[in-house]
Amino acid sequence: MKLNNNLSKEDQMVEKLAGKFNRMIEMLRSMMEFVELSDDGIKTKIKRKCDKFFRKMTFKGEALAYNDVRLRTCHSEILPGDVSLKMRFSRNVTLNIPIVSSPMRDVTESAMAIAMAKLGGLGIIHKNLSPEDQAAEVRKVKRCLSAFLTEPVCIRPDDTVEKVLKMREKENLKFWSFPVIDESGKLIGVATRKYFDFCQNNQQSIGKIISPEVVSAPEGIKIAEAYKIMMDRGIRILPVLSGTGELKGTYTLADVKRIIQNDKADYNVGSDGSLFVGAAINAGMSDLEIRLSLLHQAKVDVVVIDSAHGWSEGIIKALKYCKKTYPKIDAVAGNISEAGAAIDLVRAGADGIRIGQGPGSICTTRMIAGIGTPQVTAVYSCAKALRDADVPSCADGGIELSGDITIALAAGAANVMLGKLLAGTTESPGEIIRSPEGAAYKNYRGEGSLGAMIENRACRERYGQADNAKDKLVPEGVESTVDYKGDVGVIIYQLLGGLRSGMGYLGAKDIPTLQEKADFYQMSSAGLKESHPHGLQTIKKAPNYNI
Ligand code: 5GP
Repeated sequence: MKLNNNLSKEDQMVEKLAGKFNRMIEMLRSMMEFVELSDDGIKTKIKRKCDKFFRKMTFKGEALAYNDVRLRTCHSEILPGDVSLKMRFSRNVTLNIPIVSSPMRDVTESAMAIAMAKLGGLGIIHKNLSPEDQAAEVRKVKRCLSAFLTEPVCIRPDDTVEKVLKMREKENLKFWSFPVIDESGKLIGVATRKYFDFCQNNQQSIGKIISPEVVSAPEGIKIAEAYKIMMDRGIRILPVLSGTGELKGTYTLADVKRIIQNDKADYNVGSDGSLFVGAAINAGMSDLEIRLSLLHQAKVDVVVIDSAHGWSEGIIKALKYCKKTYPKIDAVAGNISEAGAAIDLVRAGADGIRIGQGPGSICTTRMIAGIGTPQVTAVYSCAKALRDADVPSCADGGIELSGDITIALAAGAANVMLGKLLAGTTESPGEIIRSPEGAAYKNYRGEGSLGAMIENRACRERYGQADNAKDKLVPEGVESTVDYKGDVGVIIYQLLGGLRSGMGYLGAKDIPTLQEKADFYQMSSAGLKESHPHGLQTIKKAPNYNI
């Protein structure tokens, strides 16, 4: 630094010191770019591009929602069609697409969970069902595809054809082959479609119409051998028997074929070839024990401890109970919106966390209780706190358009959970309602809406009001309807199309790369206005833009 000789000695000294001071400030500033303190005082390296952006926002005390930000584009060699969308929902539950359907009465039962897993995602069965009914829904998903079914739906020789047909309809079973077993579990035969098709008297008992000759295989047979037997003998199911003739399970041709022929279908399946499925549970210990035990028997892959306030002692206790009693079932806990909460839940054993307090389309929590972090900041802070923990986080609620999914994942979420966007589809529970003008729609009610709380204890419990009388309920959600949208596959296709496109703009070949490369701009209100279609007379409905 050159000193100004016209200055007095004292002033020269001051100038010298000021120079040193400025250099020190610069050094401190650049150090601050690489190190920051997390909520529990742990020093973490700033590793991702977006860390600087969010740190600036934190200094300003600003938290951001989806509409507050957009991503910067990057040089790219990646085409949208080439990106990989694989992530996880929890430590051991994979996703081929990062989308999960919400455990809400109007969103996920078995039909939605099956469709979601077949598309590569996951469905979480809601908990407003009795423990038995919820376990039955889980069982339907687990049974729908497994190459080797350990608990196939069996019938008895003295069941009438009519009884079986009614059961098939009631349980919404899609298959026609049933092993026929006696009281001791020994196989008597297999009732297949041809017996039902050609039966002239539905009062006849099954035992009278099926052939006593049956092709079976011994316990321990490998899938390739099972495939060969089925192809050689022209049969669709192959019963597997113990040495004493008891039925131990069945192989089904369609599923075996898919696995053997390495079908490219992106089904989200576990190591036994069955579709992954999750179920929501309450933290209340009375229900928890029985529900968990039945879900365990139904072979659920992951339970979601469902609460509006996941950073609470009751949830931590329930989580510890789940992990201690059924360590092989993954447990996801939430909902939270603070980094400290994420750390506490993972310390208590969470295999995944669910982020979102109040962003949902039907939520009023933020307005009623005055709490909650806008979702992009919530996702960023919770996911960042877990970067070294190898625990995936789910951005739950508030997704309006596919661009929000790109933003949620870029901010650090491993997957997103959807309610409104999947409600009103063919696969969501509930009847299609038709208006006199012919419009078709379905109900979509918040779990914390007054109606849902009155009807279901589980909904009251989610908001800590389990024993409140009807007139003493304080809702945190609203009841609504959404247009009937047709098959969920069409919706998912558009959402993934948008995500793929976003990843292409950033040159990200997969979601971890998206998270590495992502950097954000804060959006001004003019920017937001400019981003939506504007200055037009009319806008034709588009398959991916309907707001
Ligand atoms: P959406 O995708 O519709 O924007 O949000 C769905 C999410 O909202 C659900 O997964 C759940 O976490 C949350 N949620 C569902 N019902 C209610 C409610 O009544 N109140 C609040 N605060 N959140 C709800």
